[in-house]
Amino acid sequence: MRPEILFPLFSPARSLPGIGPRLEKLVEKLAGPRVIDLLWHLPSGLIDRRSRPKIAEVRDGEIATIEVTIGLHVPPRTTRLPYRVHVFDETGEMQIVFFSPRADYIAKSMPEGEKRIISGRVDFYQGSPQMTHPDHILPLRELNNLPLLEAVYPLTAGLTLKPVQKAMQGALRIVPDLPEWQNAPWLKAQGWEAWRPSLLKAHAPQSPNDVDPAAPARARLAYDELLANQLALGLVRLRMKKLPGRSIIGSGQLRSKVVDALPFALTDAQLRSLAEIDADMKSSHRMLRLLQGDVGSGKTVVALLAMLTAVEAGFQAALMAPTEILARQHFATLKPLCEAAGVDIELLTGREKGKRREEILSAAATGKVKILVGTHALFQSDVAFKALAVAVVDEQHRFGVHQRLMLTSKGGPGTDVLVMTATPIPRTLTLTAYGDMDVSKLDEKPPGRKPVDTRALPLDRLEEVVSSLHRALERGAQIYWVCPLVEESDEVDAAAAEQRYEHLRSIFGAKVGLVHGRMKATDKDAIMARFESGEIRILVATTVIEVGVNVPSATVMIIEHAERFGLAQLHQLRGRVGRGGEKSSCLLLYHAPLGETAAARIKIMRETEDGFRIAEEDLRLRGAGELLGTRQSGLPVFRLADLEEHRELLAAAHDDARMIIDRDPELESDRGKALRILLYMFERDEAIRYLRSG
Ligand code: ADP
Ligand code: MG
Repeated sequence: MRPEILFPLFSPARSLPGIGPRLEKLVEKLAGPRVIDLLWHLPSGLIDRRSRPKIAEVRDGEIATIEVTIGLHVPPRTTRLPYRVHVFDETGEMQIVFFSPRADYIAKSMPEGEKRIISGRVDFYQGSPQMTHPDHILPLRELNNLPLLEAVYPLTAGLTLKPVQKAMQGALRIVPDLPEWQNAPWLKAQGWEAWRPSLLKAHAPQSPNDVDPAAPARARLAYDELLANQLALGLVRLRMKKLPGRSIIGSGQLRSKVVDALPFALTDAQLRSLAEIDADMKSSHRMLRLLQGDVGSGKTVVALLAMLTAVEAGFQAALMAPTEILARQHFATLKPLCEAAGVDIELLTGREKGKRREEILSAAATGKVKILVGTHALFQSDVAFKALAVAVVDEQHRFGVHQRLMLTSKGGPGTDVLVMTATPIPRTLTLTAYGDMDVSKLDEKPPGRKPVDTRALPLDRLEEVVSSLHRALERGAQIYWVCPLVEESDEVDAAAAEQRYEHLRSIFGAKVGLVHGRMKATDKDAIMARFESGEIRILVATTVIEVGVNVPSATVMIIEHAERFGLAQLHQLRGRVGRGGEKSSCLLLYHAPLGETAAARIKIMRETEDGFRIAEEDLRLRGAGELLGTRQSGLPVFRLADLEEHRELLAAAHDDARMIIDRDPELESDRGKALRILLYMFERDEAIRYLRSG
């Protein structure tokens, strides 16, 4: 339960001054629905109104606060022209310009002959200074109300700065004092203040340096966030490691049958990873290992061989995939290999229902089924194993720490966990997402893979590309045609894909198929099966095919509006081809002219197929927040920390969290209690549940 002291921070943003129903939606879009979301929305700059020149001294482009006497009003002759007001002081004169103002507004705020303070940006027009729409027009006696320094916030369409500033002031007024969770010597060494003053300062920049990520107030807040992240991961890990493990030693019999049935030899990287996994399983500690490997690096086989060790030792294994398509695909890959070794394997997803489901459940409970492959369906409470020894989670970034734990709880204490990730994640991110998990890397592709010939072409040559498909089809090629991600909305994407499908179908007829996220799972599978069998030769798709889809005979990947995709996505998509022995190609169709970042992405795609390098470049180009992309990715999205800028702080937070867990694993000391508040503030409640008195 969240401590009471945090309640104000978690109250709805609509409780803040000036936020009515319309603004509420915009603020939610901008920052989030709660006060704390707004508070995490830090300024991107500041307006400094301290410059107080005379009119003769104003400089072009500066923000100035000037005391003037109001002169003549010059209403426009046509509505398209601006309303002008002459103003002057003893040194000169200038004009104040308004476009389509409300009729009474100017008369009221700028009465002729009176003195006013005006503040805003000065521009020179045909050699004379003017100010268009001053930010502030005040009578002299109200000078004290003029904010000399104003924080500027990132905005969203329809939302202007003033209401955001006002709501923010309201939010800052209710920020509570919280007990200190950082070590005093560390704070001192860093030159940081307590949490509340840091937050207030972060929102009240005094100079451009103060909006830099390295500014002390901002660094402190970032560090808090990183510490919460590292501490939560550390606590989860502690709890998992504390549970006794089980020493599992296989006979090697089933494994050798499967290895014999494989049409290839294992790569060195696969053998190395397997040795690491074997050692973990053999030891009496439980395994918590991340198997990291690029698309097509052969993780599935490694996972299977690890699962077989458990089966040899008389236990069961489970493999969980994030989507139905993937679960089915894993099952289809594993089934023939398991048959070769005489091992019972079953598939359990939301689609196995009724009697079939009952049969599978009972086979799992009695121990008849040795390997169970599935989706989240494996979590459901009626799923029970007789003796689950190893859980493989094909992560693809979609599961959280908590879900991983739920699966392992099915095995009772000691279940070994192997997490597979397909997208190579830069080191920094591995740390934030997995904390201290042990890592095995498949950094070598299976032999015989030919590099994918990657080219880029502007979209206005689309018709040429379409006609070149005739030749490709004659050669027997199978082709993916990926349509752009218009928005993060399946509906809109589906429409774009449907259009391209109609277009290609009018040329190539029944050889063209379509899959997108709006289709029923069974329909998707049916289309995928027809593509795999070669009946469909051109598969128009949205990014539903981004992960896991494995049709080795597909050799051409065409990506339309490649400039709209992120690097990681392009890399994943390209990874769908080049899986068989045939030479493959990838064509990136882009809308010209390319922006700088999009051009850089396409250049990197042409230069390398090394997923680890691509991931690093992606982080560099976009920053971690965007790399993680959509929030449902399951990887943590940081609000205050910037993994590039605060890299060193992450390392420090990692060590700090370790030390805390060593000394005070139940968070019972004073600092420990304050750290609980920190965890709640960053919504790491799940970690607190693992404490004795959580
Ligand atoms: P990942 O899950 O890492 O993307 P997969 O396990 O799906 O990769 O393997 C991709 C393809 O490579 C599969 O068709 C698989 O059979 C094949 N493969 C796996 N290991 C090897 C190997 N050592 N040599 C040749 N092909 C392999
Ligand atoms: Mg795979």
